[in-house]
Amino acid sequence: MTRVSIVGAGPGSADLITLRGARALASATVVLHDALVDPALREMAPAAEWIDVGKRGFCDSTAQTRINALLVQHARAGGHVVRLKGGDPSVFGRLDEELAALAEAGIACVVIPGVTAAIAAAADLKRPLTRRGSGRSVALSTAMTRAGQLVATRGADTEVFYMAGRQLAALSRRLLAAGWPPETPVAVVSRAGWPDQHGSDHRVDTLAQAVVLHGGRPTVVIVGIGAMAAPAALSSFDDTALPATPSRPTDTASLPPVVAGSKP
Ligand code: SAH
Repeated sequence: MTRVSIVGAGPGSADLITLRGARALASATVVLHDALVDPALREMAPAAEWIDVGKRGFCDSTAQTRINALLVQHARAGGHVVRLKGGDPSVFGRLDEELAALAEAGIACVVIPGVTAAIAAAADLKRPLTRRGSGRSVALSTAMTRAGQLVATRGADTEVFYMAGRQLAALSRRLLAAGWPPETPVAVVSRAGWPDQHGSDHRVDTLAQAVVLHGGRPTVVIVGIGAMAAPAALSSFDDTALPATPSRPTDTASLPPVVAGSKP
């Protein structure tokens, strides 16, 4: 019998959780949750005990050990434990560590996917992360190493950086050093999926300007083909009336191809 469901909550706004995730919540007796703030998520499991295990900061191994222990402890006590994580559990969610702790304790679990921040951001902006003919690959990257150092890569036609919101000026420099041309389009989206989501357009060399617009909010940075704006004519019409014509890249058509082995 499943005693633990590891559920992706989506990027925060409760209506972006999957139906499967909502059903898991409905039968939960205990919910161990990240720092999720939409109260509507709580209404999906009103009878459960809600425990905030949100970590602040980076590389907090003590906190993760504590979360693993709580998972095992509550699962052993019986009932249905939901581990509710922001976005998708498999994207920068330390899912591996929680799965290992459960496996070691012999506790069965399922993983229920969620909408990761990059996907919510692409939807908010109406910017497809892939583009037929020019955007063949997408990379989800953390801008922070485990040791807390900022890194940037050029490993795909579109690269989406998580956890860089506080260091956009430094990220700009690292992107240039990683081989992204200065004029490469960059879209910055904060609070993706929320009613107050905010997106702004930049270039790799002017990315520092985004700091004032997004400071203090959870932010993803989309670099490359996927950051290009759709043609104005398309974005101003009802989606259902869109012709099935792919948008043609213009200003990034001259970008040199991604170089294999450009990751640090
Ligand atoms: N598992 C999560 C990511 C957790 S790492 C997911 O799949 O989305 C935390 C980082 O995710 C933040 O530093 C930020 O870069 C990004 N993030 C989380 N929620 C976000 C949101 N609503 N809008 C933009 N970025 C978000």
